[in-house]
Amino acid sequence: MPELPEVETVRRGLKNLIIDKKITHVSFDWPKGFPNAPFDVSQFLIGSHITDVRRRAKVLMIDLDTDYSLVVHLKMTGQLVYRGDENFGAGHPNDSLIGELPDRSTRVTIDFSDETKLFFNDQRKFGWMRLMPTIEIPNIDFMRRVGPEPLEADFTATVLFDRLQRRKSSSIKAALLDQTVLAGIGNIYADEALWGAKIHPETKVGNISQASIKKLYTEIVSVLQLSIEKGGSTDRNYVNAEGKKGSYIDFARVFRRENLPCPRCGTTIIKTRVAGRGTHICPKCQVVKND
Ligand SMILES: [Zn+2]
Repeated sequence: MPELPEVETVRRGLKNLIIDKKITHVSFDWPKGFPNAPFDVSQFLIGSHITDVRRRAKVLMIDLDTDYSLVVHLKMTGQLVYRGDENFGAGHPNDSLIGELPDRSTRVTIDFSDETKLFFNDQRKFGWMRLMPTIEIPNIDFMRRVGPEPLEADFTATVLFDRLQRRKSSSIKAALLDQTVLAGIGNIYADEALWGAKIHPETKVGNISQASIKKLYTEIVSVLQLSIEKGGSTDRNYVNAEGKKGSYIDFARVFRRENLPCPRCGTTIIKTRVAGRGTHICPKCQVVKND
């Protein structure tokens, strides 16, 4: 599933390419992926110019000069691909990032007046692109409830500590995955950050010292930043067939590395289940400290 770094990579890449472009046509093959009234589409999307591309948690917002926005959720297998003077694609890493488009995974095609195109591809059809007044976005239930952005300057170790206190009796992994505690942390980055901070994912939040939370804070920020610097999952780091397949996080230290040695101590990494999710740990570096 595209996580925060992939979505941020989509945002940065698209922002450079589609700002000021005029939308002339839109087509879609999956109504649930584009649940918009034809009237709204003709009034507020067709003929509009793009003014900004923003992100909140894993949700993208493409703002239009009609005061409407296209709100995009990539869900499990979504990706956005721009084809034109320059090519760019990011999100779920599969062949559609680099192949000929539209293809079988293309759900929405947006045409710009300069004959360039934006494709919303989504193999498993859980993602969507919703047109709505920009001013209403903060009122969406999810936006009201979602926690702070981990990459914003006002997110500090103290903020993380305070946010976690609302889930004192939960496991730290469940608390990190709770989007109302913190925005955009998914399974991969939770495992990576907990390994970095040497905290077992089953440890109860209330049993973790402030010093360990501080270390966890540093790990969350650095693992997200590293992933964004590496380009998330894009057409640029995606190599087809015979080459290496681009993955979400090929520099992972524990995630999907079960049976391989821990890069810190050499102990074999194991896969277990915490908070209902497949979880990767080093059994030596990460010891549960529950009473
Ligand atoms: Zn280890």
